[in-house]
Amino acid sequence: MVAGEFGLIEKFFDRPSGRPDVILAVGDDCALLKPPQQQNLALSVDTLVSGVHFFAETDPRGLGHKALAVNLSDLAACGAKPAWCSLALTLPQIDEAWLGEFSSGFLELASQHNVALIGGDTTQGPLSITVQVIGMIPEGQALLRSGAEVHDLIYVSGPIGNAGLGLLGRKGSRLIEDPAIYAALETPIPRVALGQALLGMASACIDISDGLAADLGHILNQSHVGAEIDWDRLPISVPVRKYVEESGDLSFPLRTGDDYELCFTVPSRLQTEVERTLQTLGLSGGCIGRVETTPGLRIKNASGLISIERNGYEHFSPP
Ligand code: ADP
Ligand code: MG
Repeated sequence: MVAGEFGLIEKFFDRPSGRPDVILAVGDDCALLKPPQQQNLALSVDTLVSGVHFFAETDPRGLGHKALAVNLSDLAACGAKPAWCSLALTLPQIDEAWLGEFSSGFLELASQHNVALIGGDTTQGPLSITVQVIGMIPEGQALLRSGAEVHDLIYVSGPIGNAGLGLLGRKGSRLIEDPAIYAALETPIPRVALGQALLGMASACIDISDGLAADLGHILNQSHVGAEIDWDRLPISVPVRKYVEESGDLSFPLRTGDDYELCFTVPSRLQTEVERTLQTLGLSGGCIGRVETTPGLRIKNASGLISIERNGYEHFSPP
């Protein structure tokens, strides 16, 4: 049994990182870092709340992975190379088995990306996980939501709707047996290498956390443009296609979130280069449409325009 807050931190979270730019990590009042020259630091923070972002009984290893993955995904969307992270944990009690699994999931993903856990906070209360990540981008090169231009091509890096379908499975409202569908929901893969590869290529980029329509909507609004996308070109898995066919809900893959693929725009002259990059990285996504002058997002298929009823998840929005 670990003794209280400090024993817990030492046992589960205090690990040497091997990064020479970490002067001091867990254990003092502050972490000390040596920021690189000629790089911008990219910083992002995300909170996962039990009952809102995950079910209380969710597999803790997956949860540790996902808590970091959603943050790395934000860095990926800016084209940043991840470097450091901190973790603020609020726990109802010390459950060593749970903590062992949670910290393994978290630290395994961190080491895959050479990210050092440099500190955090540990408190008692309803289960909630806040992760902050810091990454680096060559000065002035960050990918923003505001850079899309008329005639640019719109890309998605991989399948959308899988995480949404996994959620229906976990809620018990549909029988899902494909493990890849649950993996999309519970252990998403942040597209970190792609984000960095897109520096100098993509005119705008965002990660899909709230749903393609909502997230692409942010690019369009912030870039003061509109777009048309072709439903038939959306990267969609067999189980999602089957669900759409049976439910008739064409908007499902566009309005469900949590897929953490990247959605980005590129000038059409870079089409070949971008598609080669996707292929090299083993990503199954592709071009889904084009940026246009007319504001708003139009989704078409062979039979015409498709309308979307509810546009992505938003906290504090009326039910
Ligand atoms: P303070 O009271 O000065 O804020 P704390 O007692 O909260 O410091 O934390 C002690 C040390 O342990 C700090 O270096 C802090 O960054 C680190 N720490 C606390 N919780 C975590 C955690 N969940 N993961 C990693 N490091 C943590
Ligand atoms: Mg503290």
